[in-house]
Amino acid sequence: MILDCAIIGGGPAGLTAGLYTTRGGLENVTMFEKGMPGGQITNSSEIENYPGVTGEITGMDLMMPWPEQCQKFGLKHEMVNIIKVSKSGDLFTIHKEDGTTQDAHSVIIGTGSRPRRVGFTGEDELFGKGVSTCATCDGFFYKGKEVVVIGGGDTALEEALYLAKICSKVYLVHRRDTFRSAPNTVERVNNTENIEVILNSSPDEVYGDAMGVTGIKVKNKDGEIRDISVPGVFTFVGNDVNNQTLIQEDGSFLCDMSQQGEVIVDISMKTSIAGLYATGDMRIAAPKQVVSAAGDGAVAALQVISYVDELLN
Ligand code: FAD
Ligand code: NAP
Repeated sequence: MILDCAIIGGGPAGLTAGLYTTRGGLENVTMFEKGMPGGQITNSSEIENYPGVTGEITGMDLMMPWPEQCQKFGLKHEMVNIIKVSKSGDLFTIHKEDGTTQDAHSVIIGTGSRPRRVGFTGEDELFGKGVSTCATCDGFFYKGKEVVVIGGGDTALEEALYLAKICSKVYLVHRRDTFRSAPNTVERVNNTENIEVILNSSPDEVYGDAMGVTGIKVKNKDGEIRDISVPGVFTFVGNDVNNQTLIQEDGSFLCDMSQQGEVIVDISMKTSIAGLYATGDMRIAAPKQVVSAAGDGAVAALQVISYVDELLN
């Protein structure tokens, strides 16, 4: 059987695409997710900015009902890692890790992105417990408190400026003596009183207790250690888009990509390949938020319904 639509990835983008395609009348839709549905937000201990959801809620709690809602309208779910998506004529082929394949008339991909890890001691253990990669999401938890930001690119500096409005003090730790960021952003950072720039220094170890992070040790190029007591450490050392499934046998991508490896889409989430839509964190200019990923999924699903209708009728 050929699927009307194959959805790759079961985060907020993929699940919303699943809801809208099935509820919108497509009968054969399968979502391929390599782990439990829910996506990367299930790693977050608190989410406060999903509209309409008030009170303390974990990312896991937020995402729990989403698969059930989709399945009610007929979305099928297969737990498998997809290694490649290819296209021949009008037909897409989904290549699964177990060696089997599945053909589909259309594909919505939403395999997300992963913030790069810095690689210091305690980073993984305290991730989500004081170590964060999202200031918009977690900054508010440190209102009036001191935090450390790691990185020297546009993201780190812009997020440091954002955090400086909420927190009492931001220590900006960068491994070199010059920033990679736009000059006017550097100027704004240097003119912000409650940002202390710590150059030529890298994080050595983050430590904490049962409640989470309590401090971080940073080492300068002379090997001197500075111990900073903070409850929050934000790392912004770049992002990697999960785009591996779009790589073809000859090493090229199935569709047009940006230099950073994000999928280029228009405002309808259409890629350069007919019938292929990209959503959520993996597309260009993604706000990297649950609400926007879900929005992308809905937009792509509505496009897919028209595309499949035109293709088959
Ligand atoms: P993802 O959530 O990354 O989902 C992609 C899914 O695809 C994953 O489930 C993955 O397993 C699956 N997948 C990947 N590759 C394959 C493959 N080859 N085969 C099959 N499946 C595959 N946003 C907010 O709005 N508010 C917050 O408070 C907030 N807090 C955050 C806290 C943390 C710690 C993190 C990491 C992120 C946070 N975010 C927050 C950002 C938010 O989680 C993302 O923007 C959002 O999850 C993106 O959704 P997505 O569907 O595009 O991708
Ligand atoms: P980035 O430009 O790649 O910068 C990553 C930063 O992290 C660099 O300063 C790098 O140090 C540092 N870093 C990397 N690995 C590290 C490690 N292991 N330990 C310590 N530091 C480490 O990433 P980004 O800031 O996320 O930006 C990504 C792209 O988006 C860039 O092209 C950026 O210009 C763009 N962007 C633009 C805007 C804007 O236009 N307003 C906003 C955000 C992002 P080094 O400098 O020493 O390499």
